[in-house]
Amino acid sequence: MLSGGMRQRVLIAMALLSEPRLLIADEPGTALDVTTQAQILKLLRELVDARGLALLMITHNLGVVRESADHVFVMYAGCIVEQGPTRAVFTKPRHPYTRALMACVPKLSGGESMRGIDGSLPDYSDPPPGCRFAPRCPLAVQARLRAPPHFEVAPGQSAACFLLEATA
Ligand code: SF4
Repeated sequence: MLSGGMRQRVLIAMALLSEPRLLIADEPGTALDVTTQAQILKLLRELVDARGLALLMITHNLGVVRESADHVFVMYAGCIVEQGPTRAVFTKPRHPYTRALMACVPKLSGGESMRGIDGSLPDYSDPPPGCRFAPRCPLAVQARLRAPPHFEVAPGQSAACFLLEATA
């Protein structure tokens, strides 16, 4: 009988057997209590430092991203909509989806009611022709047939939104 944390450690040990240079951790904290999650993240950080590993983490947990990543890529419906140094993206998110995502995180200070993102994900077999976030975007002003390119908004940070065209 192994606990969730033990199972994660076994998986990490197995993944390291072939001495990879890149470790991909897909939702490493899922189904773990907060204490065990912190231990697993600490272990991953130690491995990165000790072995010079590159770590690619895939997660929905913004707290884990903020704590663990140097660089973040925000994805919506299979597309990277914003990327940049973690601190820059969290301090000043520029894409409407990134902003909406961060507004979903409950604040310890309270005060505001938590809100989700209206609508639902597009059908991946028939996605919207232009910006995939358009059907849910509160800032969408007009339908476009082409997907927005990435515009640089700060050194190392870019976001794919037509509203940023003028500022880029
Ligand atoms: S390109 Fe338009 S629809 Fe897409 S995120 Fe920007 S404002 Fe919203």
